[in-house]
Amino acid sequence: MESVPEVAPPGVNINVPHSARIYDYWLGGKDNFAVDRAVGEAMIKAIPGMRYMAAENRKFVHRAARDLVEKEGVRQFLDIGTGIPTRPNLHEIAQKIIPSARVVYVDNDPIVLVHARALMVSTPEGRSEYISADIRDPRSILDDKVLRDTFSFDEPIGLTLIAILMLIADDDDPWTTVAALRDAMPSGSLLAITHPTADFAPDEVGEAVTAATNAGMTLVARPRADVERFFGDWEMLSPGLVPVSSWRPDEPVDNPEAAYYWAGVARKP
Ligand code: SAH
Repeated sequence: MESVPEVAPPGVNINVPHSARIYDYWLGGKDNFAVDRAVGEAMIKAIPGMRYMAAENRKFVHRAARDLVEKEGVRQFLDIGTGIPTRPNLHEIAQKIIPSARVVYVDNDPIVLVHARALMVSTPEGRSEYISADIRDPRSILDDKVLRDTFSFDEPIGLTLIAILMLIADDDDPWTTVAALRDAMPSGSLLAITHPTADFAPDEVGEAVTAATNAGMTLVARPRADVERFFGDWEMLSPGLVPVSSWRPDEPVDNPEAAYYWAGVARKP
């Protein structure tokens, strides 16, 4: 039993579990409440490797951001579904390599907004900005003044949709949403996606989805073909759409299918 009553920042409902806070709990963060920990634990019961999965997803962010900057020359990133800050954050990875890199973060959760200031600590040469918006309304992101002022639309943008699309129901047609974002990106832009799947462990993932759904959340594990469609006609970079741990691993991985995410990066022609 919790003896100390929990206090939440304004706008944060601690009676309803929230994806950003459950994920924070798995990663060992402190920005989560009893309701999030309960669902987080129920999902760990279904998928014992859940914390490993969350960590592998973060490691992909490090490798992909590094390669986009070093190998693809990306200098500006649009990161939608940012989450509660987890160091190193995307701008820290990019600016360590190129101090003038610019990052615009987008999330629709009030608890992420509470941390926006921490996300926005940039190098003096670079930029790190935060927009509170919903991916289901891509125009509200693309037309945002902060984004227009931060990016040059005549050079490639790194669009990162990391562990967010599973929170958008099929009924909200995330494929059309992502297509609108792709269409707005300059030629040469790169799209990085990770997405949980039941392809490697149908029973475990099915149980985890049930636990989340019973708690009132939207969570959709998608098969590979549905994830592939998010990239449209963009060209997949090597090694393609693969289990997250086998996307350009820094060290050999024993069982690449132990983290149940598809991951890939593609380039706009
Ligand atoms: N990308 C981070 C965090 C993933 S957690 C990482 O992989 O480490 C998913 C994040 O998506 C949460 O912060 C949640 O608030 C955000 N999110 C969920 N639905 C959203 C929506 N409709 N629009 C914008 N952000 C959303």
